[in-house]
Amino acid sequence: MSQRQLPFGKPLIYGEERAAIEEVLASGIMVHGPKVKQFEKDFEDFTKAPHALAVASCTAGLHLSYFYNDIKPGDEVICPAQTHTATAHAIEYCGGKPVFIDAEEKTGNIDISQIEAAITENTRAITLVHYLGLPVDMDAINKIAKKHDLFVVEDCALSIGAYYKGQHTGLLGDVGAFSFYPVKHMTTAEGGMLITKHEDMAKKIGVQRAFGVDKVVGERKEAGIYDVTMLGFNYRMNEIESAMGVEQLKRMPGFLEQRKKNFDTLYQELQELSEVQLLESSNNDCQSSYYCLSFLLKDRFSLKRPEVQANLKAQGVGTSVYYPKAVPLLTYYREKYGFGENEFPIASKISDTSIALPVGPHLDEDDMRYVANAVKESIRSVA
Ligand SMILES: *Cc1c(COP(=O)(O)O)cnc(C)c1O
Repeated sequence: MSQRQLPFGKPLIYGEERAAIEEVLASGIMVHGPKVKQFEKDFEDFTKAPHALAVASCTAGLHLSYFYNDIKPGDEVICPAQTHTATAHAIEYCGGKPVFIDAEEKTGNIDISQIEAAITENTRAITLVHYLGLPVDMDAINKIAKKHDLFVVEDCALSIGAYYKGQHTGLLGDVGAFSFYPVKHMTTAEGGMLITKHEDMAKKIGVQRAFGVDKVVGERKEAGIYDVTMLGFNYRMNEIESAMGVEQLKRMPGFLEQRKKNFDTLYQELQELSEVQLLESSNNDCQSSYYCLSFLLKDRFSLKRPEVQANLKAQGVGTSVYYPKAVPLLTYYREKYGFGENEFPIASKISDTSIALPVGPHLDEDDMRYVANAVKESIRSVA
C-alpha cells in the first residue's frame, strides 16, 4: 500500500458550520442568544436528558458540578487515577482532595472493587471517567454512592454516544460533563455541556455559570437592573461556539457509525496479534462511543513504545497516549500529596505501555487495514 497520512484526530468542519457562524456574526448577538438555547435543546434530544446546560469547557462543567455540590476544604472526592488531569483539577479548584483509585487492566476504567476501602467520613462525592468511551458499571457505582450518600459526577468528555443499559452516559449519576475540544467526538473549538436529571440542579448551575446573576439579559424588566444571589463564574458558551455545536451534533449519528465500523475493522485485524493486549470495548450493558482503539504492548515489547510510535509515525499513522501519566503521579499531585511511583500500578502500566490508534470519522475502513498493517510492521521492526 502506498503511504498515507492518517492523523490521530481531525475536526471535520463543513460549509454548514461556516454558514452558521457567519449568521451569528451578521446578527451581532454573541452571547445570551438563540443558538445556545437551540444547542441545549438539541443535546437534550440527542441524549434524552431532561436538562442540558452549555458551558465554556468540560473542565468548567466539572468545576460547576463540584461547586454546586459545595465541595470545600476538608472534603474528599473519589477520583480515577487514569484520566485527564481536569477530572482531578476541578476538585482542587474547590479546595477538595481527590482520593485516587487505580484502574482495572482490562478496560482502563476505575477499579470499583477498590472504592469502598477509600471512603472516609470526609468523602462527599465520587467522580469517574468513561475511559475512551466505554461506560463504567454505573449500577455498581450507584450502589456504593447510595450506601454512603455520595454525589456522583460523570466525566463524559470521551463518551458522547455511549450508553449504559440503554441510558446515555451522564444520566446515570447526578451530573455528566461533556467536552467539545477539537479532538473529541465533535467540536465547538472549546466548549462543554452538562446534563442532569435534577431540575433544581439545572436551575442553580444555570445561574452559577453566569456570575450568580438572578436575571439574564432577556429576563430583565428594567434595562440593566439585576441582583446577584450567589457566587458564580463566567462559564457560559458563546453563540459562535453554540452555532457550531448545533451543526456538529447533527453529524453525530454518522460520526458514531463510522467510528464503530472503523473500530470493529481495526479490532478484527489486531485481535490475533500476540504481542499486544487490546483493551476491552463494548459488552451487553456497556455501549462504547469508540473514542480510539488502545492496546498495551506486552512483555519485552512494553519497553519499545517510543520505537513503535516512531515507526508508525514514519508510516503516516498518528497515535496518542491516554493518558501519559497517572494523574496522582503528575508533578503537581505527586508533590502535593507525596505519592510514590508504584502506588497506581495499573494506571501506570496503561500510561507507560499503551498506544492509542485513531478510529475517527476522518478515516474509513480501508484506512483501518492500513493502520493494522502499519502496527504489525512496527512490531516486527522492534522484534
Ligand atoms: C479532554 C478531557 C477533558 C477536558 O475537556 P475540556 O473541554 O478541554 O475542558 C476532561 N476530561 C477528560 C476525560 C478529557 O478527555
